[in-house]
Amino acid sequence: MSDTMVEGRCLCAGVRFRVEGAPLWVGHCHCHSCRRNTGSAVATFVGCSPNQVRYIAGERQFYESSPSVRRGFCGKCGTPLSYEVDRFPGEIHLYLGTLDEPERFIPEFHVFYAERISWFDIADDLPRHRATSQE
Ligand SMILES: [Zn+2]
Ligand SMILES: [Zn+2]
Repeated sequence: MSDTMVEGRCLCAGVRFRVEGAPLWVGHCHCHSCRRNTGSAVATFVGCSPNQVRYIAGERQFYESSPSVRRGFCGKCGTPLSYEVDRFPGEIHLYLGTLDEPERFIPEFHVFYAERISWFDIADDLPRHRATSQE
């Protein structure tokens, strides 16, 4: 994976950000909350250190989907932009689809595989964790 800079934005481009360096990880989340949040079968995240991410235009709004969970989004177009949780203070999770070059960020695992939609047939050999990658 290249460690050069990449930019990202919401659908309306009101919120734009820049990511410097290689991310910590890339993974798919099948949990119920991410499904609702994105309206999609699965959410793919790019995990970064907060100091790698700089917001260069606009400001995120936040929704606390569970205690200590902050989901950032664009208040104008509604695009989900970030996920932060007190449990992982050294991480900010970006939504892969908001990055300008998503092909560069190759998923390494699945989390909350136990909550996947049953018809979701995964044709890869990546690890499948029932919940978080620690479980
Ligand atoms: Zn927007
Ligand atoms: Zn999730």
